[in-house]
Amino acid sequence: MPITEREIIIVGAGVIGLSSLYRSLEDINNSSDKNNIKYYINLIAKNGPSLDINDIKYAPDYASFFAGAHQRPFPSDYSDDEKLTFQRRESIYTSETFNFFINKGWNLINESTIKFVRGYDCIESPTPEYANFNDGYNNGNLKHFIINDTIDPDLVPLKEQDKCKMINSYDTYVVNTPLYLSFLFKKCIELTKKCKQKIQFKYNFDINISCLKDAIIFGTQSPNKPVIINCTGRGLQWEISAPDKDYCPIRGQTLLISVPKPAISSEGSYISSFFKSKENETISNNNIVSKFEGATITHQSSPEIGEWTFYIQRPLPKSHSDYNSKLYFIIGGTKNLNSSVEEISEKDTQKLLQNGQRMFPNLFANGDWKLERINVGFRPAKKNNKGSDVSLCHKVYNGEPFAIINAYGFAGYGVECSMGAAAHVISLLKKGFKESLL
Ligand SMILES: Cc1cc2nc3c(=O)[nH]c(=O)nc-3n(C[C@H](O)[C@H](O)[C@H](O)COP(=O)(O)OP(=O)(O)OC[C@H]3O[C@@H](n4cnc5c(N)ncnc54)[C@H](O)[C@@H]3O)c2cc1C
Repeated sequence: MPITEREIIIVGAGVIGLSSLYRSLEDINNSSDKNNIKYYINLIAKNGPSLDINDIKYAPDYASFFAGAHQRPFPSDYSDDEKLTFQRRESIYTSETFNFFINKGWNLINESTIKFVRGYDCIESPTPEYANFNDGYNNGNLKHFIINDTIDPDLVPLKEQDKCKMINSYDTYVVNTPLYLSFLFKKCIELTKKCKQKIQFKYNFDINISCLKDAIIFGTQSPNKPVIINCTGRGLQWEISAPDKDYCPIRGQTLLISVPKPAISSEGSYISSFFKSKENETISNNNIVSKFEGATITHQSSPEIGEWTFYIQRPLPKSHSDYNSKLYFIIGGTKNLNSSVEEISEKDTQKLLQNGQRMFPNLFANGDWKLERINVGFRPAKKNNKGSDVSLCHKVYNGEPFAIINAYGFAGYGVECSMGAAAHVISLLKKGFKESLL
């Protein structure tokens, strides 16, 4: 039986590019051998995951490294049909991603850094979308959704909880995104080795193309035309050296802080001698710190003030140099629409610290905490709240049509959408291959 050859070029190695790669490999691996298809897959990107997890190289236009990250659901807006269409689709992506992690059991693998916790939203003045529990923000989409919940006062002082008209909670997860990407990429490599006879895989994380059509030269140049998957975050255009015409960055500044790891942490590891020399009072304060490991909390102030304050644990794998001694938390965050200012704002840093210390004082108790890093990243959003673009289209180059799959524009929710969006990419890929054969 003759062998059919197929070719895929993925541009971008953020959470969307790597999830699309993982799900393509898994799909090929699970497909029947009777099909006799050989796949050539090429992953190219300007930035990729760090293979040394103790040496993370941040780049401002690599959004994935700046994601806290947690899954924080939001209610759909019924006043705008176009927005509602995006939001409903994205809500499905998020629940598919949640279920994917559980079904794979990746939360049980220490290196994945995925950790299931309780998510709490403390909302001072709920908008009608929150008050009415619109789509995406109710027990249809969220597991163990509790309305008007209370939070352990060791995490958020009662006087701050009392200011909130709503405190809702649900099952969610936190993930140390830069380290998760290393894990995900290693999983991809494992899959390529498993199905060597069906797949020839190449990658290069040092390639900056000026427009999407330039990706073609990284293919095999055989008569099989590659399907190109555009996972460039901002949506690099086909012939123009520019992001999608609707691209609109949302600048986010966050703080990465560390606190000494408690003797008993919520992941169950017990460090017998770590606090031996400390006094009892310090031990009990540190045990309070371990309570923060079981949750992620987001506070929304009144719309007039318009501030968001959250903490997200960044779980460390055992192979990390700080695993035995520290817990890492992201304190956030700012949202500056249409801002691409890369410099750190001292004013933002002070505001983040002030809000973080007010909402989560026990995380900053004893003066033991340390500011490890100040992050400035850009959520790859679109103007007028247009959602992510996951679609199949065709473009002509040198008189030949090429199938392109767009998968970009995930704004502030790319991690939580990642595996659901990647499943959508795979369904479009199958269509793309069929249409390439016309
Ligand atoms: C402060 C902050 C907090 C966030 N918190 C969360 C959170 O809690 N939960 C959540 O789900 N999301 C969060 N996000 C959003 C999340 O980070 C993004 O939605 C997600 O990372 C987008 O992933 P991506 O793969 O599309 O893009 P990126 O991660 O930006 O990856 C783009 C890829 O394309 C490559 N590329 C781009 N242009 C070119 C080119 N010309 N040539 C070659 N390669 C190119 C890049 O090198 C990179 O590999 C946050 C973002 C920020 C900034």
